Amino acid sequence: MSLLDDLNPDFDSDLAAMVWPDVRGDLPGPRSAELLARQGRRESNARVYGRHLPIAVQEAAGCFLRDVDGNVFIDFLSGAGVLSLGHNHPELVAAAIRQLRRFCHGLDLPSPAKDAFTTAQLSMLPAEMRERTRVHFCGPTGANAVDAAIKLCKTATGRGDVVAFQGGFHGTTHAGMAFTGLVANKAPIGNGVPGVHFFPYSNCPDCPMGLTRNMCSTNCAGFVERSLHDPNGGVARPAAVLLELVQGEGGVVPADLDFVQRLRELTVELDVPLVVDEVQTGCGRTGTWFAFEQYGIIPDVVVASKALSGIGQPVAVIFYDERLDVWAPGAHTGTFRGNQVAFAAGARAVDVVRRDDVLGNVRARAAQIERRLAALRRHPSVRDVRGRGLMWGVELADPITGARAGLLAERVQADALRRGLILELGGRDDCVVRMLPPLNAAEEVVDVACTILVESVEHCAPVGPRPGVVPLAVTTR
Ligand code: PMP
Repeated sequence: MSLLDDLNPDFDSDLAAMVWPDVRGDLPGPRSAELLARQGRRESNARVYGRHLPIAVQEAAGCFLRDVDGNVFIDFLSGAGVLSLGHNHPELVAAAIRQLRRFCHGLDLPSPAKDAFTTAQLSMLPAEMRERTRVHFCGPTGANAVDAAIKLCKTATGRGDVVAFQGGFHGTTHAGMAFTGLVANKAPIGNGVPGVHFFPYSNCPDCPMGLTRNMCSTNCAGFVERSLHDPNGGVARPAAVLLELVQGEGGVVPADLDFVQRLRELTVELDVPLVVDEVQTGCGRTGTWFAFEQYGIIPDVVVASKALSGIGQPVAVIFYDERLDVWAPGAHTGTFRGNQVAFAAGARAVDVVRRDDVLGNVRARAAQIERRLAALRRHPSVRDVRGRGLMWGVELADPITGARAGLLAERVQADALRRGLILELGGRDDCVVRMLPPLNAAEEVVDVACTILVESVEHCAPVGPRPGVVPLAVTTR
């Protein structure tokens, strides 16, 4: 019998109502080990998650996930921020199933599901944007939509250069990677998309200008301003400025308010479209529907993807000001731009977010996490604890040298998994342990997860000798 035959077709999970994880024995368990080994023989060497999270998944519901060995975990990776209402939200699943029976794939033809999705999405934009906003449905991934956004801005401005920011992440396609900071991923690719200029981000916890917030005048913004005004600055007026409002993969780094507002003023002055990549921050993740709302700006282009459907059905869009609506018919096509199942689930997700005040829950859980992780700020191996809404990161560093402690972060991730909590890593050298809980996570589950995270940090980087615990060296890389 295969593992698939084993699945109960009338799956009605007990998982959604759980509070505590339940992990028995070593990881991976024997059945997970079998699937991981087979995956290792058959799939690309570029596969990633199973290397640090050695489990094979049987089923999931809400905040919980069960592996094929029966271990139950709190999943605060949430499909890399995709599962905004948790795994398999029953109302979204019902909407998806109804749509599956009726019409699944629609290119870019109109349909009731697409119409409802578009109406729902537009209704979540600030009022002054709604009437001026056009939507383009892109290929299904975030990187596809980033690519579309930059291509649109190039077409609209007739310019070729792009301003991006250090530490940023915009996907791993050829174009997405070109706008991304990750040097190691780019190094082996000889001729990526040209004309991308990287400027320092307002990374205040680790200022690229070597300043501290109380002794700077947002010099990162000043640097872009001076460079783009400088006739000898080396950068032609760009087609777009591409910005994350919280760098997610970059280690949960919220942009500084003054930085963002000055970039908006500069781009208006120079008539350069400002593109905000809200692939990760969008759809409520930071406590407002889009993060740009917290910065008092109106961008020209918003890139959205991950949580648009709420249950991981792929869909990616750009919202842009109508003055940029310059593409000729067929200028940006793509087969997979009409996922009706995603549209049906996504329209329902917006209803649920409104009805259940999910954004209110994001803000309440954010305050709870801030309180619960406060103790970690005093830990010598913790350099910073930071978050916005339900994106949180604990940055680890060597207590003596201050060097980034990526291997320690890896140990914390592994230890948390053994205790039943799935976490993500990010930031430079992967030294930030990240949490991306579902936006409707219950207080009790968040509480358990915070307890596990604190215990894991304390266990992996014990302060002072403790009976029975062999201190682990804090390794840096
Ligand atoms: N932009 C941002 C800000 C992201 O966080 C990601 C994915 N982590 C992407 C783009 C790329 O999305 P995808 O993996 O769906 O291509």
